[in-house]
Amino acid sequence: MKVAGYIFDLDGTIYRGDRLTFGACQTIRILQKRGRKNVFLSNKPLFSRKAYAEKLWTLGIPAQEDEVITSSCVLARELAKEDGEIPDAAAVIAAPQATTGRKVEKIFGKPSRYMIQTALEVLGLPPEKCAMVGDRLETDIRTAKENGLTAILVFTGVTRPEDLRNSPFQPDYVLSSLAELPALDEKIGGDE
Ligand SMILES: [Mg+2]
Repeated sequence: MKVAGYIFDLDGTIYRGDRLTFGACQTIRILQKRGRKNVFLSNKPLFSRKAYAEKLWTLGIPAQEDEVITSSCVLARELAKEDGEIPDAAAVIAAPQATTGRKVEKIFGKPSRYMIQTALEVLGLPPEKCAMVGDRLETDIRTAKENGLTAILVFTGVTRPEDLRNSPFQPDYVLSSLAELPALDEKIGGDE
């Protein structure tokens, strides 16, 4: 089955700090042109989806607010399933933010299944038609493998090639940067 949607980790994958990683901007635009669906994930609950979308726009990546998923937005969706309405995520994780934010990140961020399920719902695709692209073995690659997605590791963040040897979480593909993703997408991507 072909990959129709990509789920991107942000920090270490799309950017580092305020700088895009090599090839990030061009790759996202190429994937968009090919009709792939993209979403962007962040484990950090203290910034809004809007703030991330604005940051991506500033860096030259056209991303919509609803294409950004944070652990607080995952929390809000889970609460909505129980309570029937979507609470204001900012209110939910209000003071004391530092402690509550870390809890939200731990329970609802990667590698929890909640975050990947929210991403799949937003994409409207089954896991076997999606690929997770990230720089961390124990979160990004783990969450992809545990949920039936294709796992793509990039070396633009925290993981070094030698880290792969002893990891229980092995990616399906390894790229030195996002610049190599369009070529991989030609092989694994498609609509059917
Ligand atoms: Mg990362």
